[in-house]
Amino acid sequence: MKKTYISTRNLQKEINFYQAIVQGIGDDGGLLVPQFDLPVLDLNKLAKMNYVDLATEVISVFVPEEGKELIHEACQHAYGEGLFPEDVVPVKKAGDVFIAELFHGQTAAFKDMALSLLPYLMTLSLKQLNEDRLVMILAATSGDTGKAALEGFKDVEGTCIKVFYPLDGVSAIQQQQMVSQEGKNVKVIGIKGNFDDAQSAVKVAFGDQQLKEVSDQHHVFLSSANSINVGRLIPQIVYYFHSYFELVRKQEIHMGDQINFCVPSGNFGNCLAGWFAKNMGLPVNKFIAASNKNNILTDFFTTGQYDANREFYKTNAPAMDILVSSNLERLVWYMCGKDGNKVRTYMEELKSNGIYKVDDETFAKIKAQFAAGYLTEQQVMQTIKECYEKTGYVLDTHTACGYGVLKQYQEATKDMTRTVVLSTASPYKFPESVYKALFNEDLDVYDAIEKLHEKTGVAIAKPLVGIKDKEVLHKTHIDKTEIIDFIKSEIEAI
Ligand SMILES: *Cc1c(COP(=O)(O)O)cnc(C)c1O
Repeated sequence: MKKTYISTRNLQKEINFYQAIVQGIGDDGGLLVPQFDLPVLDLNKLAKMNYVDLATEVISVFVPEEGKELIHEACQHAYGEGLFPEDVVPVKKAGDVFIAELFHGQTAAFKDMALSLLPYLMTLSLKQLNEDRLVMILAATSGDTGKAALEGFKDVEGTCIKVFYPLDGVSAIQQQQMVSQEGKNVKVIGIKGNFDDAQSAVKVAFGDQQLKEVSDQHHVFLSSANSINVGRLIPQIVYYFHSYFELVRKQEIHMGDQINFCVPSGNFGNCLAGWFAKNMGLPVNKFIAASNKNNILTDFFTTGQYDANREFYKTNAPAMDILVSSNLERLVWYMCGKDGNKVRTYMEELKSNGIYKVDDETFAKIKAQFAAGYLTEQQVMQTIKECYEKTGYVLDTHTACGYGVLKQYQEATKDMTRTVVLSTASPYKFPESVYKALFNEDLDVYDAIEKLHEKTGVAIAKPLVGIKDKEVLHKTHIDKTEIIDFIKSEIEAI
C-alpha cells in the first residue's frame, strides 16, 4: 500500500509520512490527511499488548513499512521510560461513567499524549529526509499545547521552538508553567489578543512568501506543533483503543460491544482521533463532542452550519475557548467523500464570511456518528460539585464539560451505552475554579492547590509540585499584529 498524504484542499502533491510531519500543514493552507483507506486492525491481537506495543501497531499504520522499528523506539522513549505511569492512561470510574485520564504526562494535560512523541517523530523524519536545515517549531496555544510542546522540544537537536500564548487567555498555572520553561532552544511570547488571533497568525506565517525567503537564506524552515500536524493526531488514536481494552480487561464490556466516547473539545483533534480509531475497527456507537459557552461545535453538529460570527467568551475552561476549530476540516473532508475542492470552497467561505454550511448529504453522515452539547460556566461549577458529591471523583473544568454534556445527552436520548469520558486535564491545573466549585470559597491559585489536596485527598499532579517558586524566564509581550515580524526577526537572528 502506498502510504501518502494529501491536503484537504486538494492543491498539493502527495508526500510521505516523514514529509507530512516535517511540513506540518498543506502548501495550500489545508490540513494533511492520509490518501489511503484506514485498515481495520485485529482487536484481539491488540488487546494483549502493553501501551508501547499498542502505540507502535496503531501508529505504524501511517508510516512506510520499513519505519516500524523506528516508531517502536520512539514510543518506548515517549511512553515507556517513566514520563507516564505504568498504564499510561488510567481508566477510572465515577458512578456509572468511565473516565480515561489523559493527564499523567509532563504538563498534567492531555496534550502530553501526542507532544511527548512528536519530537521523536520529528527528529526521525528529519533524518529520513536528510534534512540539515534547522526546524523552527511555531506553536499557538490556548494554554496546554504550549507547555507540552516546550517540554517535548526543549534541547532537541536540530530544532528550536517559539510558543505564542494569549495574555489573559490562559490560567495562572498554565502561564507560570510556560514562562518558567528552561531549555536553550525555547522562547515563550505573550500575545495581546486571543487564541484565535495567535493561531491564525501562525497559520499565515506558514504561507508567507517573505518569511519563506528569509528562512531559505538562513537555512531554516518552519513547522508546526499544533494539532494541525498529523503527528499530533496519530498518537491520539492509541488511547481510544487502550481505553476500550481497559473496559474489556475490567470485564465491564465484552470484546466487540459498542461504547460511546464523550470528548471535551476545542480544536477537535482529540475527538477526531477517536473517529480514526473507529474507522480502524474500534466498536464505537457515538462520539459526543462537549464544549463550553463557546458552543460553535454544538451548533455545527446540530445544524451543519459553522458560524464563527459570534462573540468570543473567556471561560473557566480556557483550553476550549476557541472559535476556529481547525481539525473539523479533516472530518468535513472525509464526510463529503474526500472532495478537496468542496472543502476548499467551504474554507474560503469561512475565511471571507466567517460561515459555511455543509450540504445535506454530508451533514446526515456527520449526524449519524456525532452528538454534541455544551455547558455554561455556572453549569461547569455545578457539575464539578455534583460529581464529587455523588461519586467522590474530582473533575477539572474541561472534563466537567464532558461529564455534564454526557448527562444531558443521556437524559435527552435515553442512550445508555457505556461511555468513556476523556479527562483532558488534572483538576490541579485549574485549582481556583475547582476549589470554588466544591467548597464555595475564592482562594489564590497556590492556596487552592494545597487546600484542594487537603480536603479531597487527590494527589497533586507531579509537574505542579513546586511550580510557584520557579523563576520567570520569559517576559516578551507583543501585539497580535506583530507576530509575523517577530518570527522574521527570530529567523534573522539565527
Ligand atoms: C486542548 C485541550 C482541549 C481541547 O482538545 P482539542 O483536541 O483541541 O479538541 C480540551 N481540554 C484541555 C484541558 C485541553 O488542553
